[in-house]
Amino acid sequence: MNIVILGPPGVGKGTQAVRLAQMGWIHISTGDILRESIEKGDTLGNKVAQYVHRGELVPNHLIVEVLKQKLQEIDCNSNIVLDGFPRNVEQARALEGLIKVDKVLYLKCDDEQIIKRLTARRICPRCGEVYNIITKPPSDNMRCDKCGSSLIQREDDREDVIRKRLEVYHRETAPLVEYYRRNGLLEEIDATGTIDEVFDQIREKIEEWAKRK
Ligand code: AMP
Repeated sequence: MNIVILGPPGVGKGTQAVRLAQMGWIHISTGDILRESIEKGDTLGNKVAQYVHRGELVPNHLIVEVLKQKLQEIDCNSNIVLDGFPRNVEQARALEGLIKVDKVLYLKCDDEQIIKRLTARRICPRCGEVYNIITKPPSDNMRCDKCGSSLIQREDDREDVIRKRLEVYHRETAPLVEYYRRNGLLEEIDATGTIDEVFDQIREKIEEWAKRK
């Protein structure tokens, strides 16, 4: 089964996809792939860094190529969860030529809550663990509980960049909600609760689909 997790930046798409990965799903995050390339300073990283840091979308032809390559590296018979792709209708159409999308989980949450969550997000630059200074602070003064590195704020988690990312989301990505609703693939999830509450809804949906298959 292949699912897309759709929703505004910071709604918890990555966190929920990681939970599915712990159950054996293959998690593909286009944002993670781009950040890794930027960190390495490779050709792709150099091409996309400015877009990512400004909170703008990377051009479609580049990101579709990134996804194609990733899909070639994985076992396509596994369950796949896509996080951060597609981001607009053109990408959704491109995806249809690459894999069959079985369901789209739309994580719903309003902008003000998103801003509160994202400005409080901190990440470990070494192991990628994600913290929140309000809801999930590290136990030792801004150091990662897993590897001890100093936590950082993602450059695109600053409030001005978050507002820009939300604006891009409403303009480019939100139309996908209607696109997938029309296709009969959309399932809405209330993403305002805790990580566990949101994941319980996702698990229930997946179990329901598995029974119907
Ligand atoms: P994310 O971690 O999914 O929030 O992605 C971080 C940034 O990577 C976005 O703000 C975009 O600049 C870029 N990005 C990730 N996925 C895509 C995509 N499907 N299309 C265009 N840009 C993307």
